[in-house]
Amino acid sequence: MDIQNELVWSHSRGRALHDCARAYWYTYYGSWGGWVADGDPAVRQAYVEKKLTSRPMWTGTVVHGIAETGLKRAMQDARRGAVREWSLEEMRAAAHRTVNEDIVGSETGAWLERPARRTGFAEHYYALPVTHADWDAAADEIDRQVVNLHGNRIYQRLLVTAARIREVEELRRFAVGDPAFGAQVYLAVDALVADGKGGVVIIDWKTGENHDDAEIGSQLGIYGLYATQELGVPEDQIVAMHVNLRHGTETRHPVGPVEIALARAAVLAGVAEMRAPLRDVANNLADKDDFPTVPEGSDRCRWCNFRRSCGRG
Ligand code: SF4
Repeated sequence: MDIQNELVWSHSRGRALHDCARAYWYTYYGSWGGWVADGDPAVRQAYVEKKLTSRPMWTGTVVHGIAETGLKRAMQDARRGAVREWSLEEMRAAAHRTVNEDIVGSETGAWLERPARRTGFAEHYYALPVTHADWDAAADEIDRQVVNLHGNRIYQRLLVTAARIREVEELRRFAVGDPAFGAQVYLAVDALVADGKGGVVIIDWKTGENHDDAEIGSQLGIYGLYATQELGVPEDQIVAMHVNLRHGTETRHPVGPVEIALARAAVLAGVAEMRAPLRDVANNLADKDDFPTVPEGSDRCRWCNFRRSCGRG
């Protein structure tokens, strides 16, 4: 059975179209169907490249995975009425196992047997000059952030109020705006918790060096839109914050009627923008030639996953 390639808006998809239209095309069209290992080689190559990660992205994936596991364990415990401690040392050991498996699986090429499930690094795929010390530094940063997560007051608060957690990293899809326009959105909230008074608290973990508060605010506005529209939470009863586990900071973002209206407008404008270059909107068909590359020599190409497919490898 053929799986339909549908145009579903997400925050990262909206950003990708602005970063490089050609990379966007590879991500959402040129790699479509590449999960079939012996299919079209060009499609398979783009699919493999789409799955590549890098050390900074990987830090976020591993730390988010530990946070997700810890919170889901606590939610299960709250349902069963039994508490299993997940000590700091156990969390660090779990992260350490993932780190080792990921690096070895990528280095040996074993990840290519299941690129959707295993971790492959651009550092290996593109044979970048990365030293053992560089890998050690990345592993140390993950360990440091797991320690920060464990000591974080919001994480600890979530553990003791786990019965109120409604969602942790659940992939959701919902419709926005006039049904005739057909805009659909994907999102997954790091943690969404009932506040016990009819409202919710939305938590977003961040692990990177540099984050743009305005961009995080717009992402949280989309989560607010989801909470009001799909969960029936009143617009004025949402608290949204991001916790930076690298720097140990917490930032609260306003999410109310204004931000939610802006989020809705951003989704509709984003979907219109994504449809504009399509050859066939009803069937979501896109032609590579309609998605231009960035200029030769652009810094963006140095770190782009698709630089081999794109001929800039
Ligand atoms: S290599 Fe450069 S032009 Fe090609 S897809 Fe990547 S960013 Fe775009």
